[in-house]
Amino acid sequence: MAKKTKALFLFSGGLDSLLGAKLLEQQGIKVDLVFFESYFFKADQARRSARANGLKLKIVDLSEEQLSIVRSPRHGYGKGFNPCIDCHALMLQRAREIMDEGDYDFVATGEVLGQRPMSQTKDRLKLVEKESGLQGFLLRPLSAKMMQITIPEKQGLVDRQKLEDISGRSRKRQLALARKFKLTDYPTPAGGCLLTDLEFSKRLKGLLEKRKQISESDIELLKVGRHYWEGKHKIVVGRDEAENKRLARLAVSGDVLVMMKKVAGPTTLVRSYGSGRSAPARIIEKARELTQQHASRARGKEVEFREKRI
Ligand code: SF4
Repeated sequence: MAKKTKALFLFSGGLDSLLGAKLLEQQGIKVDLVFFESYFFKADQARRSARANGLKLKIVDLSEEQLSIVRSPRHGYGKGFNPCIDCHALMLQRAREIMDEGDYDFVATGEVLGQRPMSQTKDRLKLVEKESGLQGFLLRPLSAKMMQITIPEKQGLVDRQKLEDISGRSRKRQLALARKFKLTDYPTPAGGCLLTDLEFSKRLKGLLEKRKQISESDIELLKVGRHYWEGKHKIVVGRDEAENKRLARLAVSGDVLVMMKKVAGPTTLVRSYGSGRSAPARIIEKARELTQQHASRARGKEVEFREKRI
């Protein structure tokens, strides 16, 4: 019996990914989805989208590799702190390894030519293909007819005529295809990767300027609260009850939690990135000030504080 053609699909959870996978499945190709999770791009949305559409998803952690690229990307950043070209090449390299190990015939993605002006031009798409070592084995079903023919198409494993020629930022063709495939449950196209978020990017950049080696806990901390720097000390003030609880959970050895006694208000976390292990008294005083400032009930009043050194 002839072996069934097998594709490894880089899945983001969005509509383009779903459509790309469906275009291959409709040709009888077995499509396995993979999502590369990182500190900055969690798999939750992809997991939900795959489940809602009856697709099986494999999640591979790429956090540390992506973080080292974020520090010094060869091809620079996008608008935020997002090194998309290098990051994309990294994901495709890993996909190539999985392809070889898993006996896949090719790798596919839901990319659309010209959809993102920086990273999805023809030249950029070719560049990441070359850097990943996937030359000829990387298929973009939504734009395939506008791109060079791939090896699986030449071999007759994929019918090029059944692929699409979509390009640009308009979503009209994708929405029409979604109706054709009866896809109704998919997330909005908005990002998902925190490195494209300008506010988060600023926080991360600030942290990396102070310290080269950062931990997962440092990154998680960037996702919560209002942030202030006092020299090499970071003060993070919770904005609501959920953030207060999260900050308490994120505290690690050396951190100090500052709270008010008897008055409801923020939990504030102080973390030191200097040579000393813990924040000095003047920084704790500053953290108290900020805690009170962000508690409407305590402003201008005499307040007592309590601290918890972790
Ligand atoms: S958006 Fe984020 S995860 Fe996606 S390629 Fe860019 S940096 Fe990587």
